[in-house]
Amino acid sequence: MPKISRRASQTPSSKIRRVFNKSLGHDDWVKFTVGEPDFDTDQTIIEAAYQAALMGNTHYVHNAGIFPLRQQLAKKFYEDQHLTVNPETELMVTNGGTEAIYLALQAIVEPGDEVIMPGPQWTPYPMLTTLNHGKAVICKVHEKDGFQYTEENLRRSITPNSRILILNSPCNPTGGMAGRSTLEMVAKVAKEFDLWVLSDEVYEKLVYDGNEHISIASLPEMKERTIIINSFSKSYAMTGWRVGFMMAPAALMQVMVKLHELETSCCNVPAQYAALAALNMDQVVTGRMLEQYAKRREILVKGLNRISGVSCVPPKGTFYAFANVKELGVPSDELVERMMDEVGLAVVPGTAFGEDGEGFLRFSFAVSEKTIEEGLERFETFVKSLR
Ligand code: PLP
Repeated sequence: MPKISRRASQTPSSKIRRVFNKSLGHDDWVKFTVGEPDFDTDQTIIEAAYQAALMGNTHYVHNAGIFPLRQQLAKKFYEDQHLTVNPETELMVTNGGTEAIYLALQAIVEPGDEVIMPGPQWTPYPMLTTLNHGKAVICKVHEKDGFQYTEENLRRSITPNSRILILNSPCNPTGGMAGRSTLEMVAKVAKEFDLWVLSDEVYEKLVYDGNEHISIASLPEMKERTIIINSFSKSYAMTGWRVGFMMAPAALMQVMVKLHELETSCCNVPAQYAALAALNMDQVVTGRMLEQYAKRREILVKGLNRISGVSCVPPKGTFYAFANVKELGVPSDELVERMMDEVGLAVVPGTAFGEDGEGFLRFSFAVSEKTIEEGLERFETFVKSLR
């Protein structure tokens, strides 16, 4: 067979997929693996896509996305974060947040440039960095610091090759959120070392206990060095529609729009109209989902903390609980394999998010309360069997 690129073929496959694939076909298993809402996309959104297609919106559009959607996104940025964003030059609609991250890395990274990211981190960050010829530099974050960067850790990760700093708040997998003081510290460091900040805010709407999502771009002099990544996937239960969006300074955006044209031309057009409808509809729909997540979070976190040898700090945002299982004395990967084989319970090992995730398990609570109760029972049975 002709050759395949080493860079591409050596990209590891994700451990989340591995667990997910192993659990396929086991309908009697309890599964906490998937990172996607279990709610259906709201009817209003589906209807808007259908109507848009019937009206002939089935052709290529501007590479950066349909203008009414960009205008509405600019309004959203102003209302949510007091950010003034030019919809003509600073916004783009992408094929999910994933493509937006890829575009940013492609547009900025030169071979050997370093991209700083938290450890544990969302699995694709290091892979996307390597694919774009960059070097992933993992800055270990700790449970005792709410899984946030500290000034000391961050400064230790910086070298003359540092180019981008990834901030993910609310964070997958830890559920941690950066408060104002952390953001101010990150902003200070980014300015001092002239770094771009790639701020992944896809879970911005899924926050609990009155926590407030603050975009680092809203801090003084930060908009000019921040790329915001966002998506309709999690806020509106639209993972399969593949609509994300990004904000960046005009000069960088111009380059990214060009790359986006080469890669996908534009985001699926009826899906862009669906996204527009999502922004225009009564936001109570997202609020209702959030209420459900909040209830599930409570049941799951309480249940985990009741199990001897397991502890779980309540996540401030996202729909993931990151349970500390260090006291069980078994590596996370082994725990996960055995849990599947012995009690039919599928969760994601912390190591799916880099080696700093060792000693943790990620439970997605985008599942029903009944599933959570059943899963907790199985988990407790399994933990007791270890003694
Ligand atoms: N960023 C984080 C932290 C995520 O967890 C995800 C999806 O799981 C994404 C970005 C990308 O989401 P999408 O491509 O569906 O918009």
